[in-house]
Amino acid sequence: MTSPSIFTRILNGDIPGEILLDTDRVFAIRDINPQAPLHALVIPKTEQFRDVTELADGDPALLAEIIAAAKQLADEHANGEYRLIFNNGASAGQSVFHVHAHVLGNIEEGDLVGL
Ligand code: AMP
Repeated sequence: MTSPSIFTRILNGDIPGEILLDTDRVFAIRDINPQAPLHALVIPKTEQFRDVTELADGDPALLAEIIAAAKQLADEHANGEYRLIFNNGASAGQSVFHVHAHVLGNIEEGDLVGL
C-alpha cells in the first residue's frame, strides 16, 4: 500500500473530506460514493493493519473501538441501527488497504446494497 493512505491524507487535511468523528485512535469520514443516506468509513489512525483479519489478530481492542464508533455514528446520523461491512481482499471488493469499516444507516427498505 502507498503510505500515507488516502484516508490518512484526508485526516491530515492534505485532500478534502468530511471528517465525522475523531478520537485518540480512530476517525470517520463520509464516503465519497455513498451507498445509503449514511455511509461513513471508520478507520484506525494506524496504517499497520491492511484488513479486519489482521486487525482482529493484532489489536482486538482497536476493532472494538471501531465498532463503538460505528454505533456512535448511527446514533448521531441515523436511527441508531447500522450495517457494518469490511471488504477483505481485492476479489472481495477492497480497494484501499488501510483497514476500514463501512457504516451504512437509514437504508431504505428493500435497498440493501452489495458493497
Ligand atoms: P473499499 O472498496 O472497501 O476498500 O472501500 C474504499 C471506499 O473508499 C470506497 O467506498 C470509496 O468510495 C471510498 N473513497 C475513496 N476515495 C475517497 C475519498 N477521497 N473520500 C471519501 N471516500 C473515498
